[in-house]
Amino acid sequence: MIGGALGRVGGGFGLFPTHRGRITLDSAQVVKAFITSLDLEGSVAQQNVAGQNAARKAFASSADLDDKEQTLEVLADGVYALTAEGDPNVGAVEGEDFLVCFEAMATPVAARGWLRRLREHTDKPVRYLVLSHYHAVRVLGASAFDADVVVAHENTRALVAERGEQDWASEFARMPRLATGAESVPGLTWPTLTFSDRLTIDLGGDRGDLVLEYCGRGHTEGDLVAWLPKQRILYAGDLVESEAALYTGDAFHREWASSTLDRVAAYEAEVLVGGRGAATRGRAAVTAAIEQTRDFLAVLIREVGAVHEAGGTLKDAFDRAHAALEPRYGRWPIFEHCLPFDVSRLWDELSGVERPVIWTAERDREVWAQLQS
Ligand SMILES: [Zn+2]
Repeated sequence: MIGGALGRVGGGFGLFPTHRGRITLDSAQVVKAFITSLDLEGSVAQQNVAGQNAARKAFASSADLDDKEQTLEVLADGVYALTAEGDPNVGAVEGEDFLVCFEAMATPVAARGWLRRLREHTDKPVRYLVLSHYHAVRVLGASAFDADVVVAHENTRALVAERGEQDWASEFARMPRLATGAESVPGLTWPTLTFSDRLTIDLGGDRGDLVLEYCGRGHTEGDLVAWLPKQRILYAGDLVESEAALYTGDAFHREWASSTLDRVAAYEAEVLVGGRGAATRGRAAVTAAIEQTRDFLAVLIREVGAVHEAGGTLKDAFDRAHAALEPRYGRWPIFEHCLPFDVSRLWDELSGVERPVIWTAERDREVWAQLQS
């Protein structure tokens, strides 16, 4: 399945963008030469060259190298989130004599920075490290936590086994800033406790429970959410983003946009920590974050679906989805980075490819060249 789909993408479109890019560049040079020869102001030519530069977008987040400010938010007594201007969020919940950490960051070096912040509030040992899904930038810092138990959904464990190595290479090339300290990663992160539907952790004393649940396929095949019923706080992982673009390259768009988000909404959380972006507080803000996520998916499905149904090309679908999403979402973190991978996976999904094709560093570059250059 993987080889076939790769072949289809590469064979159908591989050479076209390079060819077209060269022709356009030649045109720009011709225009510039023509204007220069007429001794006119160079503004038209400059605009043309500027357009060329904008069209050659840096691969994924490879040019996003400025540090983001990290904010430790205390959401309730003993309940924490570290958000970072659109970088992946992490969290922690205090039990009576232990800690549950949520998400592990991309590397042990990065995770130790988070743990230093957390240690200003509590010195309890980490009993559980909970991983919302398998993506490298959320799991490969796990060794820094020295957790007794690493918890994930059973599908996440299977995905680590199936595609963890490839995902590691893919994500670290897409997001080199997050991969700071990459040499400190000892290897893949393996969950030591998995579940299929629900797992409840008794926090002890009068702290209540932390409930881990599977809401269906969404951002990946194995996303879990962490719910504090007493405090009505939900860690939603990448199933919900708050003013950050969605990555759907490993997603099940139609299920995510319908039954899965319905289940996330049904918690009626008062505070929601999404995968990226600030924590949202209050019912209205939580609902807005969920519905914004659903809207992004709905527009993507509608626009890509229309091109797919009309027999258009993947590039047509990308251009149409970009035009429809850009006015509302274009300024949000990782929008340009994500969209080629998002459209590519949705195209497959609409073509009947049941499970996402594995992203490799090489396939990333092919799809990027085809759609975003
Ligand atoms: Zn993810």
